[in-house]
Amino acid sequence: MTGFVHRITAVDGAARVGVLHTAHGEVPTPAFMPVGTAGTVKAMTAEAVRSTGAAIVLGNTYHLMLRPGAERVEKLGGLHRLMDWPGPILTDSGGFQVMSLAKLRKIDRDGVTFQSHLDGSTHRLTPARSIEIQHRLDATISMVLDECTAFPATLEQALASMQLSMRWAQQSREVFQHRDGYGVFGIVQGSIYPDLRAQSARALLDVGFDGYAIGGLAIGEGQATTFAVLDATMPHLPTAVPRYLMGVGTPDDIVGAVQRGIDMFDCVIPTRAGRTARAYTSRGVLNLRNARFADDAGALDEACGCPACSRHCRAYLHHLFRCGEMLGPMLLSWHNVAYYQDLMRGLRDAIAGRRLAAHACAVRALWAQEDAG
Ligand SMILES: [Zn+2]
Repeated sequence: MTGFVHRITAVDGAARVGVLHTAHGEVPTPAFMPVGTAGTVKAMTAEAVRSTGAAIVLGNTYHLMLRPGAERVEKLGGLHRLMDWPGPILTDSGGFQVMSLAKLRKIDRDGVTFQSHLDGSTHRLTPARSIEIQHRLDATISMVLDECTAFPATLEQALASMQLSMRWAQQSREVFQHRDGYGVFGIVQGSIYPDLRAQSARALLDVGFDGYAIGGLAIGEGQATTFAVLDATMPHLPTAVPRYLMGVGTPDDIVGAVQRGIDMFDCVIPTRAGRTARAYTSRGVLNLRNARFADDAGALDEACGCPACSRHCRAYLHHLFRCGEMLGPMLLSWHNVAYYQDLMRGLRDAIAGRRLAAHACAVRALWAQEDAG
């Protein structure tokens, strides 16, 4: 048969721990996918990404279709080979970035025409073209083309946008080429409206996908609203297949979403923060540009085994950022990705031991130490 096997090994409340079996290897879930926008997790070698325990990374269709081009990636042996990442890769559909980056975009019933933010050249993305690009990239998991509904949106706007996305989802599913261990995910839309989310989930279930993503969140609505939308949406999704919350989030967002039954995450936060001297640690968030670290001979995070923490001190990291040395962003991206993977490992262990609620409390209490100090 086609698609994936997602073997759920333990459940604790709404949370689940399991293993997603793909053509490119196994992914322990809940999983965090570092974002490799243009075929690289910024400032990290593939070896460094692997060393953190990350099992799957994300690539961006919008960026890769413009540079170096999907056909070129295919000719060069595919994204796995180019990136030195034989493991699973999930690619987005390009829709989100067209809306956030491209110039002069024009949406119609069948797709979106836009100008590249790089050179102004005109391109067109349809559900079929997006799936074709992701196929050429050799994505393990492809995403359907959708329209990320703007926030805020009225009920009428959100309905029209969601219905367009559901039409595109069906078209994406129809052209996706089924292969063992590969899959395509549908994306639930509907803004902050519970009825629209339920309607969207039902429409996707009628088509049938290998996994279900929840899109259109983490775009300014705030954590309480994100969680309210999850609470309204999760009961409408099947339990056996993976559920993926797109673009989320901070460690605190992730803990709350795992408690609500999410299996997969991606977010630029750990790498973007790493490039701007912000460190996510087991004791909270630090800004290493802060003068208080100039003489701090301690480890960035005592609980972390990454090179930034095990081979250097906070004062050195502070120094690198003060001097604008590229090793600063490299070490801190490595640390932040390592921290996110440690966080996921801790959550998986806690679910397996049926102690997730206590674990979440303990993790949050530790964050407060550094955030407060
Ligand atoms: Zn570290």
